[in-house]
Amino acid sequence: MNIQKVLALNAILLTAVGGHPVAHNDGKAKGHKLLLISFDGFRWDYDQDVETPNLDNLAKEGVKAKYITPPFVTMTSPSHFTTITGRWIEDHGVIHNMMFNTDTLRKYSYKETQNKTEWWDNGVLPLWITAQNQGKKAASFHYPGGGGNFSGQPVSRSLVEAFGHPDSNETEWRENIDIVMNWFTKEDFDFVTLYYGEPDNTGHKFGPETKERKEIVRQIDRTVGYLLEVIEKHHLKDILNVIITSDHGMTTVKKSPEVEEILLANYIKFADLKFDIIDYGGFGMILPKPEKEEEVYQALKNAHPHLKVFRKEEFPEHFHYAKHGRVLPILLYGDLGYSVNGGVTVCTCACAKSSENGIAHNVGLVSYLGSAKLELELLGTDQHAYICIIPVEQ
Ligand SMILES: [Zn+2]
Repeated sequence: MNIQKVLALNAILLTAVGGHPVAHNDGKAKGHKLLLISFDGFRWDYDQDVETPNLDNLAKEGVKAKYITPPFVTMTSPSHFTTITGRWIEDHGVIHNMMFNTDTLRKYSYKETQNKTEWWDNGVLPLWITAQNQGKKAASFHYPGGGGNFSGQPVSRSLVEAFGHPDSNETEWRENIDIVMNWFTKEDFDFVTLYYGEPDNTGHKFGPETKERKEIVRQIDRTVGYLLEVIEKHHLKDILNVIITSDHGMTTVKKSPEVEEILLANYIKFADLKFDIIDYGGFGMILPKPEKEEEVYQALKNAHPHLKVFRKEEFPEHFHYAKHGRVLPILLYGDLGYSVNGGVTVCTCACAKSSENGIAHNVGLVSYLGSAKLELELLGTDQHAYICIIPVEQ
């Protein structure tokens, strides 16, 4: 994003907190603290059809963006890492939820990647490390990437989500907030990122347009209410800024016979591929065997009216995605609502009707800033990256 937009935005934010002058932080003085909370897959309009009094209060006290546009590709790890680095995906290199190696042909799941520094540390420093380099204390609670080392430096406090971690346990959500409050008050942490796997999990399981999704949004709102209570209780209101954000939205997958689903096996032979990442929502990548690249590309190019196919070099630049070396030679994404399937349709059961989708316009986020005075200097020279979370275009 351009600097002018950042500066204009700063002005809006300052007005919104009552014109409170932001003291210039020379990097020595102890500034305000920041808590960044991400609710995974909280689509921009999820608070429009559910009563959310606590989120509404927070927005009233602070600032709320109508939506923000996350980076392409709209997956949890890449998008969260854009939020925490302020960089496009092709610059920070976390290009997928799965880590993969095209030599060994191994794939590592989202959870498996969380402690793998080699997947996250690609020369771009996340804000935890920038803050630590300025003498501040930073921590990550389940936030994607928080388990890595960056230029040899770990996040000084990091809890990584365990396999089988329950996403929707409201009691545990509150306990996690209590833990974070103690980090701020008893251990004087300055910057904490806190991640929740909902409403993404419920959206995938039941679909975004369901009563189950609405109920989990109510649970999120109650949790925000609890957060505001304990902020008061811990006397943090005047020194803690809170940002609540998300990484992507979600849409209902279109199914046969309503539409003709995308099935790559109808067009290509998988024996012609060395490696692929497909059957993962609306986006896929393919590495054909060297002598088969052109043939595979031509076979897919106009295969399905709702399938977009690109050579890596031709991928639209405005997505800021394909320049990274990890990106495979052929990229595919489906139009809104279309999954890119390989041999069989993956979402076959009635409940599995939602999918993250690779298209930028598919997604929107909800973002709030409130609860305390805004201090842009908290993270010093990297403040632009931090502010990038707020505006409508990331
Ligand atoms: Zn996500």
